[in-house]
Amino acid sequence: MLLSQYFLPVLKENPAEAQVVSHRLMLRAGMIRQQSAGIYTWLPLGLRVLRKVANIVRQEIEKAGAVEILMPTIQSASLWQESGRYDDYGKEMLRITDRHDNAMLYGPTAEEVVTDIFRNNVKSYKDLPLNLYQIHWKFRDEIRPRFGVMRGREFYMKDGYSFDLDQESSTKTYFKMYEAYLRIFKRLGLMAIPLKADNGAIGGDLSHEFQVLADTGESQLYYDKAFEDMLNQDTYDVASLQKLYAAVDDEHDSANCPVDDSSLRSARGIEVGHIFQFGTKYSNAMDAAIDDANGKRTHPWMGSYGIGVSRVVAAFIEAFHDDSGIIWPEVVAPFKVGLINLKVKDETSTIFANSFYEKLLAANVEVLYDDRDDSAGKKFATMDLIGLPWQVVVGPRGAKEGVLEIKRRGTDEKQEVSVEAALDMLTA
Ligand code: ATP
Ligand code: MG
Repeated sequence: MLLSQYFLPVLKENPAEAQVVSHRLMLRAGMIRQQSAGIYTWLPLGLRVLRKVANIVRQEIEKAGAVEILMPTIQSASLWQESGRYDDYGKEMLRITDRHDNAMLYGPTAEEVVTDIFRNNVKSYKDLPLNLYQIHWKFRDEIRPRFGVMRGREFYMKDGYSFDLDQESSTKTYFKMYEAYLRIFKRLGLMAIPLKADNGAIGGDLSHEFQVLADTGESQLYYDKAFEDMLNQDTYDVASLQKLYAAVDDEHDSANCPVDDSSLRSARGIEVGHIFQFGTKYSNAMDAAIDDANGKRTHPWMGSYGIGVSRVVAAFIEAFHDDSGIIWPEVVAPFKVGLINLKVKDETSTIFANSFYEKLLAANVEVLYDDRDDSAGKKFATMDLIGLPWQVVVGPRGAKEGVLEIKRRGTDEKQEVSVEAALDMLTA
């Protein structure tokens, strides 16, 4: 991508409205713009990261047996009246009336819609287990939207819903999802602690929250340090993980904590995922029944599984930044390489930089090429701010000698290397 043709409205100054670093940097790096409180446009750079996070979630969740669908964002109130949640949900629900006076709403979650799909299309135990998910926008009219996309009103969520014949099968599915979540966060390079959680309004009794560790997180966590080793292993011992102690501030009682001080870690966390098993709550209320092996009508056991995809983007920045800007890990970086042509007016430099750019494209390396006629200082500052993992700099002297300067964002190590060596490093 040529920066001269891209849309990257970076800001030099810190926006006054942004209190946390991820919000500041997402605005400054031209990733998002606020439309109204808690509602954002994702600009090209931000959208690339959002899609990468979504794709990793998608791949891992599908490996665990989930199947993607896409449900509407606008839902009928009548479905929520059937489940009994329409009145309970309160002011967080954005209620809408259409031209025919039908009560509609912008979905804060989709248990009702997916249960409706299920009851109209699934008739037999032979079709179970079934695990459907989507990655789509949600709306919750949060009383205090804040910290940018971390707590937005409109946000992007992976929400999955499982249907099983009975409790035993449903619990198996639940822990399959639990493991898939651990794999997702590991692949993303984020340490996410699973905490036994309260089911809240959604009901039921099996539930875990996944909290990414970051100094600026909204929750205070206490957990057994054994999590750290166990989460780094290639396979997960779910039974042992479940026995480890982890609690949020309100639930932690230092006097009665089962873990002694030397093994107890305290850290700030950001809730990035939440899974629930809630039994037949919705299948009963909405009469979504199937025939079991004996031809008897049975209400399936359900679970739901959320990941705040847009919040994860912010969580990354909270975890990976320095004073100059973002430091993207390669898995989700909007581009892998930022190529800077220091002197566009120098013909040798421009021919050399253009040719290196073409080579990167040919090797399928995602590259953002700063080909604009601008000061070196501004170009360096922009690259540091947007945080691409590799920076490659072409200047008149290097171009004459056929060498490039290559730098890993977040370190001070710079190397002067040949074109071939640079390509080797960037395609490794
Ligand atoms: P929170 O406690 O942070 O308000 P929640 O428990 O209400 O979240 P869930 O219903 O568990 O949220 O939704 C699943 C996931 O969606 C959460 O774990 C979180 O990552 C994300 N999420 C929820 N609300 C928001 C929001 N307002 N903005 C961005 N992401 C959100
Ligand atoms: Mg939650």
